[in-house]
Amino acid sequence: MRIPGADLGAQHAPLREDLLAAFARLLESAQFIQGPDVRAFEEEFAQYCGARHAVGVANGTDALVLALRALDIGPGDRVAVPAFTFAATAEAVCLVGAEPVFVDIDPATCNMAAAGLEAAIREHRTRIRAVLPVHLYGRPAAMDEILALASSVGAAVVEDAAQAHGARYRGRRAGSLGRVACFSFYPTKNLGAAGDGGALTTNDDAVAARLRLLRDHGQTGKYEHAVVGCNSRLDTLQAAILRAKLPHLDAWNARRRAIAARYTAGLDGLAGVTPPAAGAGDELVHHLYVIRSPRRDALQQHLAAAGIATSVHYPRALHQQGAFAAHASGRAFPAAEAAAREVLALPCYPELADAAVDEVCAAIRAFASGSAGG
Ligand SMILES: *Cc1c(COP(=O)(O)O)cnc(C)c1O
Repeated sequence: MRIPGADLGAQHAPLREDLLAAFARLLESAQFIQGPDVRAFEEEFAQYCGARHAVGVANGTDALVLALRALDIGPGDRVAVPAFTFAATAEAVCLVGAEPVFVDIDPATCNMAAAGLEAAIREHRTRIRAVLPVHLYGRPAAMDEILALASSVGAAVVEDAAQAHGARYRGRRAGSLGRVACFSFYPTKNLGAAGDGGALTTNDDAVAARLRLLRDHGQTGKYEHAVVGCNSRLDTLQAAILRAKLPHLDAWNARRRAIAARYTAGLDGLAGVTPPAAGAGDELVHHLYVIRSPRRDALQQHLAAAGIATSVHYPRALHQQGAFAAHASGRAFPAAEAAAREVLALPCYPELADAAVDEVCAAIRAFASGSAGG
């Protein structure tokens, strides 16, 4: 059996009628920009996240940039980001002219380490104006510790929730934990559009109002431009598709958790393979199911030969990337570097069958026993 890394066709097949109806409705109304589905989706998504406001934007990267702009973060300011995440997290900081301060990760969770943030705050003090934790792979970051440390220097906390739609931290949803949160609806995210899309959530009325201005050329009314904004609107078409998919998100996330539990049981006790840590009371949404192996590259090749698609998120830590190396001032981030060498994402999406999970586990067991002693 060939096992792909994602199967959006299988996700969309049972929704085909709903999605086609959304297309048809839009073609007839022709309200492609800021049509009624945008506001309706924003209300439904805000409610889903347990936040007062949601603001749709063009993609998750823009969401991060606009969050920082809404908080007036720019040149001269520093923003703490994990050293191990998708590039967009640090890219957004650079795009507003601020300086990313890298923080090493907790090796058990791959999320920003509270101890590392504490050290960064001790060093940079109030020049750190925001902290940008990522809920990596769908696991909430250590928000209580991060919020306390940030507030000790008056820094805002911006959640990068691009991989965590629906995750709960101590009972509360991602998107309701920081001052503002950023989501991506890239097609393979837990909630995905038919193209690019993004949103921000916040409980802060002023931040929400500012985001609405910034995403639409700073317009307070037609051709009235109060501030310099940009064009980063969520397409009506994407909003309509997201509205059709949002009611299924909880069931999809539950299926991801069942798949993760099956993997963890199936890989139990295997030498040289470390499954992800349990959630410790938090509700993970397993955007990715990521194991660690010191022989990651050989394992990935072994699985590819068996027709099993896997992926590496991410093969380099941010300070090891040409784009960001200059911001690391030559420092090492050993936990981030080790993760970059060892992480491997196994197929994990709601449409994946139990039999496929078992086959992946069997292939990993075969690799482990074949290489035992070697
Ligand atoms: C996907 C992702 C983004 C960027 O979202 P886009 O919609 O692709 O711009 C940002 N941060 C993280 C952690 C992501 O996974």
